[in-house]
Amino acid sequence: MFVHSFESMAARDGDGIRYCIFLSGCPLRCVYCHNPDTQKSGGKYYTPDEIAKKATRYKPYFSNGGGVTFSGGEPLLQADEIVKAGELLKKNGIGYILDTSLAVPLTDSVKNAIDNAEMILADLKFSSPDQMKRFTDGSLDRVMTCLDYITQTGKRMRVRTVVVPDINDSLEALKDYLPIIEKHDVEGWELLPFHTMGFFKYEESGIENPLKNTPAMDMSKLDALKEQLRELTKVKII
Ligand code: SF4
Repeated sequence: MFVHSFESMAARDGDGIRYCIFLSGCPLRCVYCHNPDTQKSGGKYYTPDEIAKKATRYKPYFSNGGGVTFSGGEPLLQADEIVKAGELLKKNGIGYILDTSLAVPLTDSVKNAIDNAEMILADLKFSSPDQMKRFTDGSLDRVMTCLDYITQTGKRMRVRTVVVPDINDSLEALKDYLPIIEKHDVEGWELLPFHTMGFFKYEESGIENPLKNTPAMDMSKLDALKEQLRELTKVKII
């Protein structure tokens, strides 16, 4: 698989200690992308065996529910490679989580990668086709098809949404996500603050930053929005 970078001992993007593998390539071009340097395809190629060997070195740290997280970029663009690496990881007693936008066609390869995952972190970008079109190059139809499939499989899933000032940082905007989330079997909806820590990556990659004048999300405002949402839904707001 083509890899942008690795992060060992990560304490986010899933349970326990994670070995995060950021795969190269993503066609979505979200306006708030915090990893614009992963959008370009290419990078260094690792065989499934090399991936499994690298991850297995960290197995002693995975005892509390940890394991591998495939992120990106959009990991499901390399679904076949994930399945192959996942089989080798499984033989070594290691599971994987997918951190994905789900804005991909639901091919047999994608189904296999989902079926073999321990859990899905589903980045639900926006709640309407218009917003998806305005702020990303992705299709909400594709996301919905994948969400439906994951719910059918009974796979553990957590939905995540980045809250961005002046785009979706209002109760009105966030309320519109609820029908999608409530329709699916999710263990929680995580609201993540937009931050500016990745701005330097735009400069380094020579990519225009569409939100260069947008400030980081105010955490007290985000906490207040979460409280208001808890009044409106039984979904666990994280
Ligand atoms: S899906 Fe993720 S990697 Fe792809 S453009 Fe959006 S934020 Fe960036």
